[in-house]
Amino acid sequence: MLSIDGLAATFLDDPTLEVPALQSLVARGARARRLVPIFPSVTWPCHASIVTGVAPARHGVLGNMVFDRTAGAPVEHFGDRTEVPIAVDTLWDRLHARGERTAGVCWPKTRGVTAVADNIPEFYDQELFERHASRPLWSELADRGLPIARYGPWSAEHALGPMQDWLTLESARHILRVRPPRLLLLHFLTLDSFQHDYGTTSPEARWALTEMDRLVGRLLETLEALGRAESTTLLVFGDHGFVDVHRIYHLNQILCEERLVEVDAGGTVTRRLAWATGNGGAAHVYVLDGAPRTTRERLSERLSALSGVEVFGPERFPDLGLPAPGPGSTQGDLMLAAAADVYFTGHATAAAVARAPAYRAAHGHLPGIERMAAGLVMAGPGVAGGVKLETASMLSLAPTAARLLRVELPAAEAPPLLEALDERLHHG
Ligand SMILES: [Zn+2]
Repeated sequence: MLSIDGLAATFLDDPTLEVPALQSLVARGARARRLVPIFPSVTWPCHASIVTGVAPARHGVLGNMVFDRTAGAPVEHFGDRTEVPIAVDTLWDRLHARGERTAGVCWPKTRGVTAVADNIPEFYDQELFERHASRPLWSELADRGLPIARYGPWSAEHALGPMQDWLTLESARHILRVRPPRLLLLHFLTLDSFQHDYGTTSPEARWALTEMDRLVGRLLETLEALGRAESTTLLVFGDHGFVDVHRIYHLNQILCEERLVEVDAGGTVTRRLAWATGNGGAAHVYVLDGAPRTTRERLSERLSALSGVEVFGPERFPDLGLPAPGPGSTQGDLMLAAAADVYFTGHATAAAVARAPAYRAAHGHLPGIERMAAGLVMAGPGVAGGVKLETASMLSLAPTAARLLRVELPAAEAPPLLEALDERLHHG
């Protein structure tokens, strides 16, 4: 399973983009025109859904950034800086229970996951790589001369993303050579980073797509050279689409104006009666202990008045695939969804805004926005050739992979994509 972060559905239909490796998979496999993500359509919740088949309400990864009311502190799923695990069974759990190996390179939410036998989680801090990457694998990559001491720095800076992705691919090629697993999970980042920084139709984003395709080509060549091309099934997909954005709301600045957040002269937050965590085109808004009784209603009214902002209360959360807010939950009391040209941040001060990059494109928006759809192509044993599905749910990816792997994933909330599978896989 290869996740090309930010691979929007439209990229596979643009005749001016040369992606020969991806097109070779399309030619012999199955594809979906639109892979519809979950909400919020950001990387960490989407990847948790991709390996579980359940919405955030059940897997518990409710955003790249959320807030822990008990600790009074943010929870950063982003960069796997928290030990909060995925709350339900994943594909790797099911394989592990059957004694089969999973390997993951740069896959989100694999920190501390021993069921992923060869595991380099997605981090942005070198220290976390050194602490959590699988020991034997990490040493082998060093012995092979790969610059693993640069994994953190290359992951932390968008401009160096192509080198991070190269290192991810080289690590995967090593794993395929020495300990081929039953399931290999890979995640490339550059296409996402370059769209954020330069826009969805920028020359930089277009270059990134061709570079991602080049890496896919190298992966296919490696499988060929190892004699595994015929026996390997590939699922290649994006985790969300993208929209170009022109307006930003810095939500905690609004909460400062409402006197629900206080910041000292040095820019440190000294008091929170409410807090917002921006997740691109989505945001959680938390009403915290000590806030006036009417705060949720007041904020709902204030934020609804912003142009291009939709506010949802808890009564709407089940429809959005989100859980009920409560003392032990990282779900906000309100959920915001942005119009297609808007995104949110959680910056509380002008200095924080000035320090952060301003994005030209974003995601996180409601999955009903056409451009949030991702691409999906599958090829290899078990996949029916020449199939073109119009729409597929992101929640169908895990059950589809489970069917190909012949494991059960009973909790999945969507069926496998049977139309894209050989008939002999239609019955579980
Ligand atoms: Zn992403």
